[in-house]
Amino acid sequence: MSTNTKIGFLGLGHMGGPMAANLVKAGYDVLAFDPVPAAQDQARQDGATVVATAAEAVAASDIVITMLPNGRIVLDLYGEILPAAKPGTLFVDCSTIDVADAKQAAELAAAAGHRALDAPVSGGVAGAAAGTLTFMVGGAASDFADALPLLEIMGGKVVHCGGAGVGQAAKICNNMLLGISMIGLSEAIVLGEKLGLTHDKFFDVVSTASGQSWALTSYCPVPGPVPASPANNDYKPGFATALMAKDLVLAANALRANGVDGQIGQLAAEIYTRFNQDEAGKDFSAIVTDIRKRSGEED
Ligand code: NAD
Repeated sequence: MSTNTKIGFLGLGHMGGPMAANLVKAGYDVLAFDPVPAAQDQARQDGATVVATAAEAVAASDIVITMLPNGRIVLDLYGEILPAAKPGTLFVDCSTIDVADAKQAAELAAAAGHRALDAPVSGGVAGAAAGTLTFMVGGAASDFADALPLLEIMGGKVVHCGGAGVGQAAKICNNMLLGISMIGLSEAIVLGEKLGLTHDKFFDVVSTASGQSWALTSYCPVPGPVPASPANNDYKPGFATALMAKDLVLAANALRANGVDGQIGQLAAEIYTRFNQDEAGKDFSAIVTDIRKRSGEED
């Protein structure tokens, strides 16, 4: 794909803003839209062409990337922009949304004579800024091939996971497992505290024993053993509890919709939804402080 390819970019928030900026840096013409004036100003400073409506950004573009808060907004916006696009335009939705919504978005695009991929990401705001996101992509192989050069600019790893919706499936499966493993790890840490096991000794044993996990060795939820983990920075995110709660609710919906007996996944969604009511802005690893408090101990 040449840099003559015109890109429409809709949703210039914490993630979309830096992702669009990386495409501009790589030499692409980016037609950008977001209703929020501060996001528009930043995109202008980053070198994008900010236009007045989403439809205007789409009409002149070959590929349209969306990075939006939720599935309802994606579907509503697709209703507005699909009729405005040139035939065969490739729509790449990078938002984290319900698998069913992602499939519906792809069907709407196809019915309007266009092509679509779901391409949710992990890696957070830091990954978006550094261009090191992981993309999990669902859709046709030929459409994946067309989007790949752009995804490789914004990402460090790009995986074609399967057909429409399967990118979102990979995202929620991974994050469900991460949420579950962080809760399980935190319960074990608090139990260890009650039984006189120090954090250092817990780490020393478990990090090389059968209870080992990424949550422990790369993201330890208590200060000390892993210096870069948010626990050492008053649980400043990192990956905010609000986002973990959102992803776990999507996973719980998918468990139910597909008849999976996912008892721990459902419970993890409930636990993070409750924690999110008080601590939405804290890193999700702060769940250990909640478990400790609910176990009658101070932080
Ligand atoms: P954000 O709220 O910062 O950005 C969303 C942007 O979409 C906002 O600027 C908003 O004004 C804009 N928007 C809303 N309606 C619009 C419309 N109709 N047209 C154009 N723009 C519109 O959210 P974010 O943190 O950038 O997250 C975006 C998506 O990425 C979410 O689905 C989130 O779950 C996912 N995600 C976020 C992170 C993270 O660490 N922030 C990590 C992985 C995935």
